[in-house]
Amino acid sequence: MSRRKTIAEPAHLSGDLRELKLPSFLDHWERLAQEAEKSRQPHAEYLAELAHQEVCDRHERRVRRRISDARFPRLKTLDGFDFDAQPGIDRDEVLELARADFVEEHANVVLLGEVGTGKTHLASALGMACCQRGKRVRFTTAAELTNLLVESKSVDRLSRRLDQMARYDVVILDELGYVPFDKLGADLLFSFITKVYERRSLIVTTNLPFARWSEVFLDATAAAAVIDRIVHHATILKTEGKSYRLRDAERAKKAKARRARA
Ligand code: ADP
Ligand code: MG
Repeated sequence: MSRRKTIAEPAHLSGDLRELKLPSFLDHWERLAQEAEKSRQPHAEYLAELAHQEVCDRHERRVRRRISDARFPRLKTLDGFDFDAQPGIDRDEVLELARADFVEEHANVVLLGEVGTGKTHLASALGMACCQRGKRVRFTTAAELTNLLVESKSVDRLSRRLDQMARYDVVILDELGYVPFDKLGADLLFSFITKVYERRSLIVTTNLPFARWSEVFLDATAAAAVIDRIVHHATILKTEGKSYRLRDAERAKKAKARRARA
């Protein structure tokens, strides 16, 4: 504490830093100034270091905000994904997507596969990667989004909600096909997909092959139009095999049996 007193705070500094919204400058100027004085660091370097700290902290704060705004049900990462357990998925292709260039191109990702095969995990992990790149991401299920739109009641509110959702760079539509929609729900989801087509990116997870999307969108023409828009610029990733949780449980059971025999 006694070392801290060695540098007198210049007049206005704290107030000006607050006014300029530079919280990291405010937190670190004094400590870095002490270090600079001690090591006779040139003024320009001191300033550069302080500015860099502000930039790094700002980036970190922004990523944290993006992740919290995305409302992921669980925080999943690509590091936590066992690619060896999922031979249908090409690791390099996923890592390429994680660079978020597809978002710049307003392209989509479709994850297709059986329940428990890692679709939501991969969709969330890609969403997290997009947050890391500063993209605005929103995770929702197809049913949740459709309900939100159906419950809008007035045309004004519906249009506000559509605008709100279309503001995100990436919308993750999880579990398309798990719950069939009624006519209004199907029409409204179609409106949303049309609205974001070639303007935003969608990451869609589904257990239904495209040939069966007419069951969700109720008629073949609507389904074809949705598929056309989503698939036009899309990377399709197909997960294979049995549920990962089931396999995990089976592995644990076998290991337990082995231990019991030993
Ligand atoms: P889906 O959305 O296809 O039904 P999930 O992504 O919800 O499947 O996966 C079910 C559970 O298994 C999750 O906890 C997920 O993290 C885990 N999981 C699935 N596949 C993998 C994998 N290849 N590596 C690590 N965890 C996995
Ligand atoms: Mg899922």
